[in-house]
Amino acid sequence: MKAVVYHGPGDLRVENVDSPVLKDGDALLEVSYCGLCGTDVKTYRRGHHMFTPPCILGHEVVGRIAEIKGKPQRSDIAVGDKVAVAPYVPCYGCAYCRKGREELCVNKGWIEGAFAEHVRIPAEVMSKGTFRVPSDEHFKLACLSEPLACCVNAVFDSHVGLADTVMIIGAGPMGLLMLELCRTVGVSKILVSEPNEFRRSTAAASGASVLNHRDEGADVSAWVKDETDGVGADVVFVCVGTVEAVNSAFGCVRKGGVVNIFGGLPGGSSLTIDPHILHYDEVIVTGSFGFTPLQFHTALTMLIGGTIDVGNIITHEFGIDQAKEAFDMASSGEALKILLEVNSNA
Ligand SMILES: [Zn+2]
Ligand SMILES: [Zn+2]
Repeated sequence: MKAVVYHGPGDLRVENVDSPVLKDGDALLEVSYCGLCGTDVKTYRRGHHMFTPPCILGHEVVGRIAEIKGKPQRSDIAVGDKVAVAPYVPCYGCAYCRKGREELCVNKGWIEGAFAEHVRIPAEVMSKGTFRVPSDEHFKLACLSEPLACCVNAVFDSHVGLADTVMIIGAGPMGLLMLELCRTVGVSKILVSEPNEFRRSTAAASGASVLNHRDEGADVSAWVKDETDGVGADVVFVCVGTVEAVNSAFGCVRKGGVVNIFGGLPGGSSLTIDPHILHYDEVIVTGSFGFTPLQFHTALTMLIGGTIDVGNIITHEFGIDQAKEAFDMASSGEALKILLEVNSNA
């Protein structure tokens, strides 16, 4: 089968590789679309400790069940069904799962890389993390279930409430998905700071008040205070992986509010926090990563129900043979979510 093989930073090749071998309870997915995630793009640009080349990347996947090996474990999913697949599932047995923090599970079951014509869905992912997409209309959008599920997790972690003011630092695909999710759950105001003109105008078109914090004389903290009657934002999501962005969040959050470090920072980064912010102002600093199968299902249900409006976030589609162009486009910052269309017949 054809697959996009990652051979190291800057080196992606479309190659013929062996098709996956199934074990009992596994399913074979004929991949229809797979989204390029920020992690895939970071790996392509500078490598990643979780991915040792040669390997196949890709985890934001929808497709058609081509085969189920052995006795089917699910009565609701059959060969031929279109599904969205959570790329990992928790074990439900470790100390974190028993505390209800399945996203922190230490024994996760994973699918293999999905930038390929076929991918094996291991039995445990088939039983806990595979969901039918009933309508063709939203099939492609269902690729956004995985990134949106990460946002659902962050919104839960940060206790976003009705009529809150939310500040989003960074309007890349994740920042914009966060914007749409916050809008859908009923916040009253969304403030976005983003230097890229295209991304900033996309946020503005979705109803956010926007600022380019790199503009001469721009003062993001003063702007947020101005927009919130001098109080500050209830929740600040830092959707950029820089220390500078996290530091600016402390100047934007209200007393008793939440700063969520949603973008991953390079290992070894350090922050300097004035302890007065934590003690006297009772600001909560948290972070969010990943999701549970329930949150994945929540995200998928919103996408296929049409209750969240995210069609504008998918800006480009490429065929599998154009994988390198797709990754170069994603690296340019001029795109939002890019999908690889792998099997057009699925
Ligand atoms: Zn992802
Ligand atoms: Zn676990």
